[in-house]
Amino acid sequence: MILQFLQTHLGHWRFMLAHWRGDVEGVEKEVQAVSEHFSNVKKLPVAANLVLNCLSFNLAFMGSIYGLGFSETFQRYALLYMVLPQIVGSVVFYAYKYTIAEVLKALDPFVILHWVHNFILMAAVALFSWELNILYLAITPYLENVLPEWLRGELSFPISVKETYFSRAHLVMMCFGVLLFLTLPYWKAGYELNMKLADRRPTMGYVEMAMELMYFTATWPQHFQFMIPLGVFVQNVLGFKFLIVHIILAMIEFSLINFFLLLKFEPMHMFMHKVKPLYRMSHYEHHVCKSIHPTTGGAGTWELFTQGGTSFFSAIHFHSIPYVPFFMLYGGVSLIGHQMANSKLLVQWHTLHHIVVADIYAGNVPSAWDEKHSRDVNKYKDKLMKTSPFVKYAWLPDAIGGVCFLTVMAVFHYALGWSIMNVWDQRNTV
Ligand SMILES: [Zn+2]
Ligand SMILES: [Zn+2]
Repeated sequence: MILQFLQTHLGHWRFMLAHWRGDVEGVEKEVQAVSEHFSNVKKLPVAANLVLNCLSFNLAFMGSIYGLGFSETFQRYALLYMVLPQIVGSVVFYAYKYTIAEVLKALDPFVILHWVHNFILMAAVALFSWELNILYLAITPYLENVLPEWLRGELSFPISVKETYFSRAHLVMMCFGVLLFLTLPYWKAGYELNMKLADRRPTMGYVEMAMELMYFTATWPQHFQFMIPLGVFVQNVLGFKFLIVHIILAMIEFSLINFFLLLKFEPMHMFMHKVKPLYRMSHYEHHVCKSIHPTTGGAGTWELFTQGGTSFFSAIHFHSIPYVPFFMLYGGVSLIGHQMANSKLLVQWHTLHHIVVADIYAGNVPSAWDEKHSRDVNKYKDKLMKTSPFVKYAWLPDAIGGVCFLTVMAVFHYALGWSIMNVWDQRNTV
């Protein structure tokens, strides 16, 4: 096992290096080699794999908020309104999709052992990101020295502020989910439009799409279930101070997000797709549905763990700030990238990555790698460019995402007072 752990870890490093060099053969070779260390789908059937992902993740979440000192009120809220609905919603969805007998295989001790084996190897992949994280956490505080006095010092918020923020974000998630249910015919028509554009025959009825929307909405909090306790862990347990300079770095990264996603997210996203057992451990929940809705968390259940909590470099710090990440992610980039609007003008690449599993691993804009190697970019590019300005103008998804995020943030600030500005005076002061 130790040997397999090390081989997986080194194989993942070699894969990243091959991708950065643009070495297609090297990439395929490492995918092949790493895949062989994992237990395959015959030993770990997909429904059981997904059920075990869901149970273990929620157990780890409850354990972490208990261990890190979140309040009892929040723990109770999280258990009753986040964790239990998520477990029930996921298991019902998996039983609907794969049958009850397949779901029950999650109780088989041999299946559990294979899941544990794959989990350990997933941790070997995560180690790559933690090596980068530790480097980032160790070096970045020194950047303070080049900043003026007023931009030096700590910037962090108490757990109580994070709890209120998370509970409010969760309420927004559930209300938005209800809104999508009420407008389901519109999204179904949008799904059909997108499928026809990709020369595919639409195969979903209302029941299946409603089940998928229920599943997406029930699992939406997962992103914050991981990121919020992780930030507290890095600060309070590992002892790294979160400084103003980290937020400045996060702002720079977010302004150049399409570039920074290419460094780590794009190759890791491809790796998680191509190493099939890892796909089922880390990313499959994001693709298990045929449709896509803005109520998706944007990642598989254990995906953020696999990426060390960050698809680029600064996300752990970014997520330690209340309100901004929620509105920026789900009021901007995810709202634009994860929709099936019934309008040709809003057709875009990431929707196709979901509904026809198009081989585009960057965000919403094909990368240089995609332009060169993607089958689907070559197949659909001309047609989609004529159809949608979102495909024709690479800058447009980010620009519209930015406008949406700022609008959503302003609406919540002025209507409900839910904003970073309103908790600014509650930040920790040293
Ligand atoms: Zn994907
Ligand atoms: Zn997605």
